[in-house]
Amino acid sequence: MKDSATPDVAGLYIHIPFCRTRCGYCNFYSVTSLFRIPAFLAALMKEMDMYSRKFSIFDTVYIGGGTPSLLHVQQLRDIFQKIEKSFVLPPNTEITIEANPADLDISFLKALQDMGVNRLNIGIQSFDRQILAFLERRHTAEQAIYAIEAARNAGFDNIGLDLIYGVPGQDMASWLDTLSVAVSFHPEHLSCYQLTLDADTSLGIRRQKGDFSLPGDDLQYDFFMKTADILKDAGYIHYEVSNFSRDMRFFSRHNQKYWNHTPYLGLGPGAHSFVKGQRWWNYRSLEKYITEIEAGKQPVQEMESLTMEQLQLEALYLGLRTKRGINISKFAGRYNCDLIAQKEKVLKRLQEEGLVAIQNGCLRPTLSGLAVADSLSLI
Ligand code: SF4
Repeated sequence: MKDSATPDVAGLYIHIPFCRTRCGYCNFYSVTSLFRIPAFLAALMKEMDMYSRKFSIFDTVYIGGGTPSLLHVQQLRDIFQKIEKSFVLPPNTEITIEANPADLDISFLKALQDMGVNRLNIGIQSFDRQILAFLERRHTAEQAIYAIEAARNAGFDNIGLDLIYGVPGQDMASWLDTLSVAVSFHPEHLSCYQLTLDADTSLGIRRQKGDFSLPGDDLQYDFFMKTADILKDAGYIHYEVSNFSRDMRFFSRHNQKYWNHTPYLGLGPGAHSFVKGQRWWNYRSLEKYITEIEAGKQPVQEMESLTMEQLQLEALYLGLRTKRGINISKFAGRYNCDLIAQKEKVLKRLQEEGLVAIQNGCLRPTLSGLAVADSLSLI
């Protein structure tokens, strides 16, 4: 499968660390004190200045969070103007923004288009009222439907919808309903995530107290397989464990940079960056982020240099989560590792179990392999 991402040009991620309310399952960094937005934006502008000499060009921009769509149009416009002043964005740059359905109306969506946003990722999660309430989402199923229709009417031709399965109380019928409503809008991209709960999220705490349990492995496997089947029949390419696209043109070019060890710069609290084997990340605290920048310092909490062995393991982990898999000779050249020789026995076993296949010089997960991709990476 040909790679639709530009191999070496870096991607830019901007983390907007604000949400109106927190969802019970979420472990992304955000705060609900919206009065800090102006101070954050001032710091973000300065952070861009700090990197404008080190990075020159980005061909993907991803505004994520948090909830970028809670910003006012003028605040978003200021961010984009600053990006364009600080860096070069070629004409084909993929510019994505994440949005909460409750924030979207035609005039906001048209303003996003005027700013050059060409990819809209909407956090739908479910069309089932009870599931939305359990997840503590602040939007309704009706708002979700309105948001998708409004995005189409505003002219978006690259829409991604995020959905969650494996929610306590969700049976297969409820999940398939959500999936079929989503497919009925013909989104260009679908991300279907299995619910996982970190211990420090509010739902994670309730789970530990025994309020509920997550579906068992067999049911999770059924959710995964059924999703893959249905979306394949609907014409989607299952190009990564959780990601489906109507066409290769709509693969997330930005996310592929994360999976390919392509450089990326992350700005905002908690954002990670990666360049040539070095990874660094910002303080996961809005106040610390602002204070450091106001003191003229980069808000970097830590930096690490990955060893060749760590890079190999990461590339193996990430590659085996993609349908494209790992190009064996490129892997050998880049990570100085002959996978076939080093992992001969285990690869033979995985092939016999039907979890991986070697085709056209690539080591690829089968569909059953994708279903257990996290354990595959432990080979
Ligand atoms: S899931 Fe999204 S909207 Fe909900 S708390 Fe997390 S970042 Fe905010």
